[in-house]
This record gives sequence, C-alpha cells and structure tokens, in this order.
Amino acid sequence: MKKIGMLGGMSWESTAKYYEQVNIGIREKLGGLHSAKIAMVSLDFEEIDRLQRDGDWISATEVLTKAALELQNNGSDFLLICTNTMHKIYDEIQARLSIPVLHIADSTGQALETAGYKKVGLLGTKFTMEEDFYKSRLLENFNIEALVPSPARRDEGHRIIYEELCRGRLLAESRQTYLQIIKNLKDSGAEAIILGCTEIPLLISQNDTEMPIFDTTTLHAAHAVELATTEQL
Ligand code: GLU
Repeated sequence: MKKIGMLGGMSWESTAKYYEQVNIGIREKLGGLHSAKIAMVSLDFEEIDRLQRDGDWISATEVLTKAALELQNNGSDFLLICTNTMHKIYDEIQARLSIPVLHIADSTGQALETAGYKKVGLLGTKFTMEEDFYKSRLLENFNIEALVPSPARRDEGHRIIYEELCRGRLLAESRQTYLQIIKNLKDSGAEAIILGCTEIPLLISQNDTEMPIFDTTTLHAAHAVELATTEQL
C-alpha cells in the first residue's frame, strides 16, 4: 500500500473527514485490520486565511510547498491538498515536487464524467467560484462547464464557509441558504452540483436535495484510496 501525504488544516474540520474517509475506504477495500498509511502536515488556518485575504499567494505558496516537501521527504508516495481553494497554487506546488499531487478537480471531474454530466453548478469559496483555476480544469480535462451563483449569493456562500463551517458551526438557516442557491443553479440549467469546498459536505448532503450532489471531500478521498491500492502512479 502506498503512503498518502495529506496537506491539511484548511480547515481541520474537513481534514478530520478526509482522515476518516480514507481509512474507511482502505478498510472496505482491503478488509481485516487494514488502515491507511498517512503522513499529515496540518497547518494553522488563521495564518492561511490571512494570506488569502491579503492576496499574498506567493507566501501561501511558500508555506504549502514547505509542508509538501516535508511530506515528500517523509516517504509519501503522493499528496492530497485537502482544500479546493488552495488548488489555486497547485501548479506552483507540483512543480517543486517529484511526487504527484492528486488534483481535487480531477477526482471530481472523473466522477462527473462517469455519471455523464456536462453542465454543473459549482459551490465553494469566492476564489474557487470566481477565478479560473478550478473551472478551467473541469473544462479542459473533462469538457464540463461550471455555472456559479450570482455575486450576492457567492458572497453569502463564502461568508458561511469562513464564519461558520470552518469554525465548526453548522446552522439550519445556512443549510436553507445553500439549498436555495442549489435551486437557483438548477433553474439556470445545472444538471448536478459540486460541493467544491471541503467543508460544505459537513452541512449539505444528498439527503437534503434531489439534485445530484458531488462531494469533493469524499471524491478526493476515494480517489486517494484507489491510488494507494493500485500499482499505477
Ligand atoms: N476548505 C475550503 C475549500 O475546500 C476552504 C478553506 C480554504 O480556503 O482553503 O476550498
């Protein structure tokens, strides 16, 4: 079994889910007392949040690359960056490593492609919804078009992530806000919804809506289990 390097703490609320889901996946796949081989660096999200707010992506790249190199030097066979947003600096991190970094949009795009969806709603932080790094990966690698909510709804979704979900606060009214956003995306032509922030699945699940839901935390973790248990890298 390969050793998975996890770059976590962004936020730890979702990294805890990654840890659980990767271990459950390995148990389901290998049985017995098998559990995942994991090395983790868990960052202080207050520091990362400040760099994001300041737009200091150069320092953010340095912090994440240093952590990624620790994981590589520690014998990790491949890496997960346990957040959608920080894939904004995926290329810069991958370029400094000799081991592969499993891109979360590829895990998600593969699942959407298998299910046959071509136009999907994307929920996440404003970085993920508004910038090109995530949407263009889906389009270029999978020919999947991502629709995003209106500016006011993007603001509200972003606020819920940083002020509530990353602080462990799961509020019924925010669930309703997200469900309304999902309905609007459906009305705009979305066939399915990407929960493109690793904390949103803490609040919204497939039980809450009839729209097909693609949970990036689960898909990224499942992809890691696949990779950890096959020859290919
Ligand atoms: N975990 C979140 C994501 O998947 C947001 C936190 C962050 O900014 O990294 O985008």
